Amino acid sequence: MAVDTKIPPFEATSLDDVARYALEARAAYASRKTKDVEWRLVQLRKLYWGITDYTPKFLAALKQDIGKPSTEAIIGEIAFLLTDLNLTLQKLKTWVKDDTDLDYPLTFSPLKPHVRKEPLGAVLIIGPYNFPLMLNLAPLIGAISAGCTAIIKPSESAPATAMAIKELVDNYLDPGSFHVVNGTIPETTALLNEKWDKILYTGNPTVARIVAKKAAETLTPVALELGGRNPAFVSKATNLALAARRLMWGKCTNAGQVCMSHNYVCVEREVVDDFIKYLNVSYNEFFPQGPKASPDYGSIVNERQFDRIKKMLDTTSGKIVMGGETDKSKLFIAPTAVLVDSIDDPMMTDESFGPIWSIYPVNDVKEAIKVMNKVDPTPLSLMTFGSKSENEQVLSHVTSGGATINDAYMHGAVSTLPFGGVGESGTGAYHGRASFDCFTHRRTVVATPSWMDKLLRVRYAPYSQAQLKQYLWINSSKPDFDRNGKQIAGLGYWAWIVFGLGGPTAKGALIRWFTVLTAGYAYFTQSHRLTQLLS
Ligand code: NAD
Repeated sequence: MAVDTKIPPFEATSLDDVARYALEARAAYASRKTKDVEWRLVQLRKLYWGITDYTPKFLAALKQDIGKPSTEAIIGEIAFLLTDLNLTLQKLKTWVKDDTDLDYPLTFSPLKPHVRKEPLGAVLIIGPYNFPLMLNLAPLIGAISAGCTAIIKPSESAPATAMAIKELVDNYLDPGSFHVVNGTIPETTALLNEKWDKILYTGNPTVARIVAKKAAETLTPVALELGGRNPAFVSKATNLALAARRLMWGKCTNAGQVCMSHNYVCVEREVVDDFIKYLNVSYNEFFPQGPKASPDYGSIVNERQFDRIKKMLDTTSGKIVMGGETDKSKLFIAPTAVLVDSIDDPMMTDESFGPIWSIYPVNDVKEAIKVMNKVDPTPLSLMTFGSKSENEQVLSHVTSGGATINDAYMHGAVSTLPFGGVGESGTGAYHGRASFDCFTHRRTVVATPSWMDKLLRVRYAPYSQAQLKQYLWINSSKPDFDRNGKQIAGLGYWAWIVFGLGGPTAKGALIRWFTVLTAGYAYFTQSHRLTQLLS
């Protein structure tokens, strides 16, 4: 379909329409039409073609909103979404299947326990401005695939993209089931006053608290996709030129307005000068005429964000060692590295969410770990450029939503892997299968056969001690641990070791024998404490 690339002026949705859309989304869900997997696949396929047809308009809108170079828009938004969509289209019929691979005591097998995947219902998606297309539509893919209806509220700070998303949704998706609400705080507040079955919010922690509080009033579950002060570690053991180049990429893409990009880099003291030298080499390689003149470097989204980032540069006590140029009239801030000597410096205490970051010298990986855990113990991402052992130390001593070894945030670039924060950087995850799970309720179902009633006699009054004893005898097992919490190597363990010596084929046969033997053992040795208590 040919799409008019002219971008309409931003228009807020009327509050009457907000209420109507919410009502329609709930009614569409209540009709149960979204439960049909074929219906979901059709919506997803239409979304695929919608994104494809709207690509020229999205590229223009993203350029207008945030100066996004088209290569970045294609890689980070359009292709990212299409990859996620393609995987979902391929896998959905498998994902929706009942889960029967469950763990439960053998005695419950006649009940045929299984987990049905049920849609949560009508959901609300609130997006931010930095990846204003992807961060609205990726959650939508999850909502559709799970069988939910949805309202999207894009960021007003990316108004052109918000209007283009509205057009796409109105033109391609089922009317009533999916709507876009555009606007600012009044429209978002009106949406939050409606009852939802889940809210996925992406943005800053202050608004996340407003969303979470509002959701708590109606016990609405939330997924909160937030940011953090993401650390990176650079060791003297790493290839410094490569580390500098990759970290530069992380901060030049989208002019650093990437929630996973590094806020600060802990660099081993003896290689700080070399690291800075390599950063400047990359700077000149990426932007031979300087970033301001480059079509491959984006702008800061608006004056408010420009002022916020500039203030960090104005108030730092550190030394600018790369970049530093700013121009408010062009919303331009050059990729800028600042060498600091205190973790209380604004370059360390504030979230950059822009093209600036600090370099904090450390003596070794242990000091880096201490710094990271002090500055922000639960960042959204973590990057480490060290030896195998150093990387493992960083990973095991510092938590984060996701992590990348030897690169900037590549874990977030794989559009089908679970993506989400931890602690202050958020809760819940999505992308790929995780998006389906995010909007799915796992509903446990069992079916008790009529013939089992005799076996269930124990639960009916009048209660009988004899029945209870029999019940415990059947249902309990001996602990395989002592009172100090230490595991006891029982018969099963030794049987496993012995039978494990056979080859894979022999092993298969022996495992069956093992099961028989262990069952026999359990039968003859069931003298559980609870049973003893009754005697
Ligand atoms: P933003 O200003 O675009 O706001 C995000 C959304 O919140 C918008 O839709 C906006 O309309 C809504 N909003 C603003 N004030 C509100 C209020 N009072 N009540 C209800 N809704 C309100 O974007 P932002 O929040 O400045 O985004 C930047 C932050 O988001 C950074 O902290 C960044 O790290 C984080 N972020 C996280 C991710 C992630 O996936 N984890 C992605 C992008 C950005």
